[in-house]
Amino acid sequence: VRSTAVVQVAERQLEIHEIPVPVIKPGEALIKIEAAGICGSDHDQFNGNLARAGWSTYPVIPGHEPVGRVVEIGEAARRAWGLALDDLIAVESVVPCQTCPNCVRGLRKFCANRFSYGFMPLSDGSGLNGAFSEYMVLRPNSVVHRVPEGISPEIATMYNPLGAGFDWTIERAGMMPGDSVLILGCGQRGIACAIAARSAGAERVFITGLGQDKIKLDLALKFGADEAINIEESPDLVERLRDLTGGGFVDRVIDTTPGAVAPVLQAVEIVRPGGIVVLAGLKGEAKLEGLAADRIILKAIDVRGVVSVSSWGYQRALSRLAAGDLAELHSHSIPLVDAQRAIELIGTPEATHVAVMPGASTATGTR
Ligand SMILES: [Zn+2]
Ligand SMILES: [Zn+2]
Repeated sequence: VRSTAVVQVAERQLEIHEIPVPVIKPGEALIKIEAAGICGSDHDQFNGNLARAGWSTYPVIPGHEPVGRVVEIGEAARRAWGLALDDLIAVESVVPCQTCPNCVRGLRKFCANRFSYGFMPLSDGSGLNGAFSEYMVLRPNSVVHRVPEGISPEIATMYNPLGAGFDWTIERAGMMPGDSVLILGCGQRGIACAIAARSAGAERVFITGLGQDKIKLDLALKFGADEAINIEESPDLVERLRDLTGGGFVDRVIDTTPGAVAPVLQAVEIVRPGGIVVLAGLKGEAKLEGLAADRIILKAIDVRGVVSVSSWGYQRALSRLAAGDLAELHSHSIPLVDAQRAIELIGTPEATHVAVMPGASTATGTR
C-alpha cells in the first residue's frame, strides 16, 4: 500500500508523492487521515519562516492538526491509548518523550526531545509524519483524543483553534463566571476565545477586528461576543472600551493579533487592577516601545504569554463541538492535491476555518 502525500520540498514548493505505508509495530497505529486543519503555522511553514527558525526542514509532509480513523493498531498501542479499529481521533502535534526535565515538570509542549507531526522530515521513520497525506503513522507517546459521536471530521479539526480558545481564556487567563473579557483579533483563535468565554459564563465579551473582518466579527457575535469593535472606526480602543463599560475596565484581555505591538499597550491600559492579560499573537520579534512598567506594578496585573494548546483545552473543545452548533464556522474543505490553495486561504476575510480533506475530490465552501 502507498499513501498519496503532499511533500514540501523547498520554500513555497509542494509536490505530490506516493510513499510506502510501513508495517505497523506493536506501539504504533496507522490512521487514515479524514481531515487536516489549517492555521497560520501552515502558512509560516509554506513560506519558509519555520524552516528559517529551525522548526521545520525539507522534504516534509506538512499538516499538524490531524483527524483520522484508526485502520491498524498494535497491541501495545491499543492498551496505551484505549483505542479500537475505526475510532475517529484527533492527534496532538507534539509527541512528548515523557522523561526529559520539562516533560517531568508537566511542560510537555516544551519537551526537549519532542517529535511534532507535520514538521518532521521524510527521513524520520516511515516519513508518514504529517496530515497532508492519506495515511499517517502514530508513534508511541502520541497524545490522542477520541472524537465524540456525531462530529464530522472537518468540524472535528476545529479542536485546534477551539482548544486554544478554551486554554487561553479559561486556563491561562483564569476567566471566572461573571467576568468581562476583551479579545483582541478575530481570526479563528479570536473567535474561539469568544466561544470559550461564553461557554464559561462570561458576563460581557468584546472582540476587535478590522472593516474587512465583517464575516468573522459577525460569527463572533453569533457564537459568543456581545460587542464587536471595528478598530478602523474606533481607533482609540481604550476610549471605546471606557464608553462600553461605563468608564470601567475589563477583567481579562487576550491578545491574538499577530505582528502589531500596540494591542499589548492597549491591553495593559484596559485591564482592571489585579486583572490578567494573555499574549498569544506573535509579534515577529518587534520590540515593545512606550510600555510604562509602572502600569503593570501599580495595577498589580499579570501579563502572561501562551503558546500552543493544553490537552485540557483540546478536551474542552471536542466536548463543545459535540453540541453540534458550530458547523457554520467551518468555511472551506479542500482536496489534498489543492493543499496550497488551502494554505493561501488562511488569513483571507472569508476563510473562518479551512481543512484539507484527503478523501475529497472537489473543494466545498460555505461562502
Ligand atoms: Zn495549527
Ligand atoms: Zn520530553
